[in-house]
Amino acid sequence: MKPQLLTAAALLTAVTFTAHAQAPAPVTPESLVTAAKRAAGLDYAGTFLRICVAPDNLNAGGPRGAAPETRTVPDRALWYARPYKVFDNLYFIGTRIHSAWALTTSAGIIVIDTLFDYAIETEMIDGMTALGLDPRTIKYVLISHAHGDHDQGAALLQNRYGAKVVMGAADWDSTLQRPASAPGGVPKRDIAVGPEGLKITLGDATVDVIATPGHTPGTLSYFFPVKDAGRTLTVAYSGGTAFNFPRRAANFAIYRDSQRKMTEVAEAAGPTVLMTNHTEFDRAYDRARIAQLPRAPGEKHPYETDMATVLRYFEMAANCAEAQRLSTQ
Ligand SMILES: [Zn+2]
Repeated sequence: MKPQLLTAAALLTAVTFTAHAQAPAPVTPESLVTAAKRAAGLDYAGTFLRICVAPDNLNAGGPRGAAPETRTVPDRALWYARPYKVFDNLYFIGTRIHSAWALTTSAGIIVIDTLFDYAIETEMIDGMTALGLDPRTIKYVLISHAHGDHDQGAALLQNRYGAKVVMGAADWDSTLQRPASAPGGVPKRDIAVGPEGLKITLGDATVDVIATPGHTPGTLSYFFPVKDAGRTLTVAYSGGTAFNFPRRAANFAIYRDSQRKMTEVAEAAGPTVLMTNHTEFDRAYDRARIAQLPRAPGEKHPYETDMATVLRYFEMAANCAEAQRLSTQ
């Protein structure tokens, strides 16, 4: 009798599950925003507001964030940040607003993102020198996407130090259309990354470059190892965040799919650090400074979290994009 009873119970459970599966809750922009809010939690609340609650392209006439046509230099007090060693092999050389990093390897330096041209000398060159790094050993400059706040330093680092500039193929196309008088100049095409991505190895470090179109057609994101007091952690670096592209369903689908791709790669790579290239999205300026403080025994690095928290970033971003895609149809 008992086995039969169990079988009946199991059958009933199966029927219940089937009934649920047949009538899933409808996916709506509202349900996706709710899911994104849950995924964001307190970790990504600001990013959630920026892309889920008030996306930049909601009422905008066209893309924003492109390189300004005329060079404007804001008051230094608004952007200047001191440089900081943040991990054993990763140095913050960005401004209060935009991140730039020097990743040191056994065979030279990989620079990750540059800044507006007014900040290159002060933040990146002087910053590296102040930290004991030699800018002449820069071998690669990775550009997450071709907007002026991240790429205007590329030409200088290429011309002065012979560094190879790495950019998404579609973003090279737009970059090479700029006039020679564009702020920071125009870099020559070095390494163009296609949809299949690329691994860049320099000495003892490898950066896994992932094509994540969406913010721009050639946006790149990265996975790379950093060391915290000798312990290796994996960073997931998201190369483009805001919805400032033309508001079309197809564009949101591309963005969404890139976030899902990052989730897939992250599940295999096991990152416990999430970085972006605007300090508002990953608190880089604050974390770089907190990293200078002594830590209690067992206290984590201010950038270290767990893999589930990193994955929630990409889940939030995919849900926000899908919510916007559905609302534009
Ligand atoms: Zn941008």
